[in-house]
Amino acid sequence: MQYKIAVVPGDGIGPDVVEETIKVLDKVGEKFGHVFEYTKYLAGGAALNQMGEPLPQETLEGCKNSDAVLLGAVGGPKWDDLPGEKRPEQALLGLRKGLGLFANLRPAILFEALKEACPLKSEIIGDGLDICVVRELTGGIYFGEKGFKETEYGKAAYDVKIYSEGEVKRIAKIAFDMAMKRGKKITSVDKANILESSRLWRRVVQEVAIDYPEVELSHMYVDNAAMQLIRDPNQFDVIVTGNMFGDILSDEASMITGSIGMLPSASLAEGNFGLYEPVHGSAPDIAGQNKANPMATILSAAMMLKYTFNLSEESDVIEMAVKSVLNQGYRTGDIMSPNMKLVGTKEMGQLILKEIKN
Ligand code: NAD
Repeated sequence: MQYKIAVVPGDGIGPDVVEETIKVLDKVGEKFGHVFEYTKYLAGGAALNQMGEPLPQETLEGCKNSDAVLLGAVGGPKWDDLPGEKRPEQALLGLRKGLGLFANLRPAILFEALKEACPLKSEIIGDGLDICVVRELTGGIYFGEKGFKETEYGKAAYDVKIYSEGEVKRIAKIAFDMAMKRGKKITSVDKANILESSRLWRRVVQEVAIDYPEVELSHMYVDNAAMQLIRDPNQFDVIVTGNMFGDILSDEASMITGSIGMLPSASLAEGNFGLYEPVHGSAPDIAGQNKANPMATILSAAMMLKYTFNLSEESDVIEMAVKSVLNQGYRTGDIMSPNMKLVGTKEMGQLILKEIKN
């Protein structure tokens, strides 16, 4: 099979980690008989430097015409003083909107070999963690009506949280499909004891669940979910929630893994199209120094294989390779600990390649 991937390396360590990821994809292609065809596009600071805007039309069109997008990271101090609409981060918002990305998938995986990086006690995490937060990305309070009005206490500002049945249905379907490929367990997080929009959310999620009899569904209030993530994170498999609750809970879930250089993410649109990128930023402090951990981006490519191309076996091969290299004690600086072997970006890439045997 042939797959068209738009590659947007971006700024800082983006190009460093994307380069290693492409090598890994090629190796997987070779092993399983697939051809991955890449076209590179500019975005963020790199696009500002060369074309004067953070998201050139050519980049958006190129991404739209591909099967999936692999993105490094954008931004850096060089562009920090530019006005809002000219900032590199605008490229991310433009891509989300232009590509119709409405579901953000953030797995928080703690590999057993990295248990010491987790801030929680070892009896709480057991053999590691594997949770995925599915966050609705284009609705809710961030996009509802907003404004100001006069009240008896003076000027007031408001933001309206609004969700339609259609929006909840499509994100719930993504989460249930995902649960079917994982542990078949979903926790839907809301505040249905207080919010009308949460009561609608809960009803629609229950309706979608009827089509997935194998998946175990439970509901949890957001305040309890924030607490349970710390108290007993292994009770979760897939968490599905709205935009703001997801924003907060996905960061909390990432933090308990203790290492930002390890965390992949995906943003999906209708029809399996997706943009895949590491959770971390462009890390300008270590850019171009062969110090960046490429694993988050490599694991993002593994998600691409699983969720956009439906290549689960190929995806598992990448995850196993990452796990094996960690088990052998190799570490980049961000996840280094005593008695481990320190390697650079390129060496880490090579080690992972070596584990993907023909
Ligand atoms: P950051 O994630 O870039 O870096 C935070 C810290 O983690 C730094 O010390 C960095 O060296 C380290 N780090 C991050 N990724 C690493 C990796 N793969 N390997 C080893 N160490 C790693 O966050 P920041 O410093 O807040 O932001 C830097 C720039 O990135 C800013 O311009 C910000 O706007 C941008 N940013 C972009 C994205 C994105 O493109 N999606 C996300 C977050 C931040």
